[in-house]
Amino acid sequence: MKEVILIKNGELALKGLNRRTFEDMLIKNMKNRLRSLGDFTFEVQQSTIIAQPDSEDIDLDQAVERVGRVFGIAAFSRAAACEKDFQKILSCAAEYLEEDLEGASTFKVEAKRSDKKFPLTSPEICREAGGYLLNKFPHLTVDVHNPDITVNIEIRDTAAFIHGRQIKGAGGMPTGSSGKACLLISGGIDSPVAGYMMAKRGLSLTAVHFASPPYTSEKAEQKVHRLLERVTRFSGRIGLWVVHFTEIQENIKDNCPEEMFTVIMRRMMMRVAQLIAQRENAGALITGESVGQVASQTMPAIACTDAVCEIPVFRPLIGMDKDEVIDIARNKTDTFDLSVLPYEDCCTVFTPRHPRTRPTLDYAEKAETGFDWRPMVEEAARTARLVVIG
Ligand code: ATP
Ligand code: MG
Repeated sequence: MKEVILIKNGELALKGLNRRTFEDMLIKNMKNRLRSLGDFTFEVQQSTIIAQPDSEDIDLDQAVERVGRVFGIAAFSRAAACEKDFQKILSCAAEYLEEDLEGASTFKVEAKRSDKKFPLTSPEICREAGGYLLNKFPHLTVDVHNPDITVNIEIRDTAAFIHGRQIKGAGGMPTGSSGKACLLISGGIDSPVAGYMMAKRGLSLTAVHFASPPYTSEKAEQKVHRLLERVTRFSGRIGLWVVHFTEIQENIKDNCPEEMFTVIMRRMMMRVAQLIAQRENAGALITGESVGQVASQTMPAIACTDAVCEIPVFRPLIGMDKDEVIDIARNKTDTFDLSVLPYEDCCTVFTPRHPRTRPTLDYAEKAETGFDWRPMVEEAARTARLVVIG
């Protein structure tokens, strides 16, 4: 029996004229994500995309798992494809859904007929198939309102498709359909979640990580690679730029007031990240900040950071509690266990004892005049090392 995946796209349906482009993007993303399992042929029929494995030995369990992480999909199901011959459709339904039907006590049949040349109408298909299945599985009764299982029969142009359960998709919009943004990723809990959330809104990602060897270790960078790898299961491939940040940090430490270390460091990060974003054609920055979480994330501190940004900064976690972020890190991105591994981040290297929580912009600007940071920022962006993840 030939099995396929039937995909119902989510918000795409709302996009009117752009729909084709969005669908093409969704298909491209699925192809990329499924490639290592084997080739699939994709076909769009009405608002459904049919993904058909090109060979029998493709692992469909794996494929279904991966499709479940592709953004832009509202729901999908595994389905049996069958010739449009009603007797064959009936026996295929009984065989394909045997286990589910054995385990259920109530069922109903739902039929969709987009091929109007098929000799039976949808109500006729439901009636006939219902009778056939009752006969085959005499323990079942029909319940049209709240059945244990719904047997779906779709008669389409190329074939008939039979499926039971629908699986909820990852939602959101196809990655790439909203453009590209640059994620500032630390090894913490928040930034991978922030990347995931923006990828869900259709942004493809490039990433920047600031490393300060020898204060931060090779292991800390490896941890970031592993975190991003988990994000790529949703976002697709990510180019990570690793910035050598030591010189800038040491200069901040030696030449700026201690209470301003963090704010100035964040302003420097934003400056470097913007140069990289520009090179990468990314239209915004993404951070994992949340109001009030730490000293550098008070409103005045964020204002000081934003003042150096000429492109939008997306902070999808801004109004979230840590618990809510952890919930996503545990149950969606599966990054929590990695994030809590205890490696130092450059942020923790020169943490001031008493950071100023209400810095003014004037003071921040004055505080950073202690050294000539411009060439260092340019150098840091220019010498960043690219690691391709996923
Ligand atoms: P996270 O859990 O993401 O590390 P956090 O709550 O620890 O966040 P901060 O350390 O203040 O908060 O960092 C705030 C944001 O700044 C991070 O979410 C991330 O976007 C960015 N950031 C911090 N450190 C780095 C780094 N070493 N490289 C790149 N971006 C960083
Ligand atoms: Mg951090």
